[in-house]
Amino acid sequence: MIIVPSQVGLKSGDSGFEVTILKHFLMQYGYLGYTDSTNDQKHQGARSIDLQHETFNELIETGVKQYQEFNQLNTTGVLDKDTVRLMLQPRCGVIDIQAKKEGKVMDEKEEMTLAARIAPNIASVSKWNKFNLTYSIRNYTTGIDISQESQDMAIAYGLEQWANVVPFEFTRLDQPADLNFIFCRLRHNYHRGNTTCPTDFTGVGGQVAHAFFPLSGEAHFDDDETWVDTPDESQFNRDLYAAAVHEIGHLLGLNHSQSPDSIMYATHQNGKRTLTEDAISDIKNLYSS
Ligand SMILES: [Zn+2]
Ligand SMILES: [Zn+2]
Repeated sequence: MIIVPSQVGLKSGDSGFEVTILKHFLMQYGYLGYTDSTNDQKHQGARSIDLQHETFNELIETGVKQYQEFNQLNTTGVLDKDTVRLMLQPRCGVIDIQAKKEGKVMDEKEEMTLAARIAPNIASVSKWNKFNLTYSIRNYTTGIDISQESQDMAIAYGLEQWANVVPFEFTRLDQPADLNFIFCRLRHNYHRGNTTCPTDFTGVGGQVAHAFFPLSGEAHFDDDETWVDTPDESQFNRDLYAAAVHEIGHLLGLNHSQSPDSIMYATHQNGKRTLTEDAISDIKNLYSS
């Protein structure tokens, strides 16, 4: 079941299950305000949708406007066609860091709080304190459209892109490592720690992968997706090379970009496999200090 808002024209004052789905979506990606990292309600909210009928209130309207602003759409506050089209795209599950909060740029402390919220059980720092990192491919997709060798190559390719601009050295291990790549479905656990991942996958479409900021070192790929090693245009295939580059960006500490061209833009796009200038400059800045 893909739980993504799809009703074009939904607006303030409307009510019903579609509004509930919209609220869930906005909450999941950080557009309904901040919650305390110790408050698990957000995660509860992201986990299940009650069959209740919400009303499209001011808070939801503000959330829609923030989503539109972050994604450089017209800020109508209404679920117009462009907004629904974007919401329906396959995407990364990492929260969209809001560059602005009530008109001001988020300070570092607020970003840390957000990072803590995404990986609530792991002490949050935003970068690795070493350049020698180990990695481990803990399992492979059960899909038959990509070989295991090709999955190894996709992860190695993703790591290499970042190592080309910051002097990381990645060493592969057969045991849990600094960076762990895991295919999982629906409700799933963190690979390490045996606690439940705060975000469920929802089958084909919607979220296709998510990863956690340092020092968590976990990247989860939805095994219900059809992963491939070709950058083809099929709307049902997911390019593992593209997803690997993007998710490794999070593993190394980068947030989502507002620019649709950026490798760190949340929407998954087959064939988008190379670092963009903004990401290169962001990762260099992060590791130069
Ligand atoms: Zn992402
Ligand atoms: Zn997960």
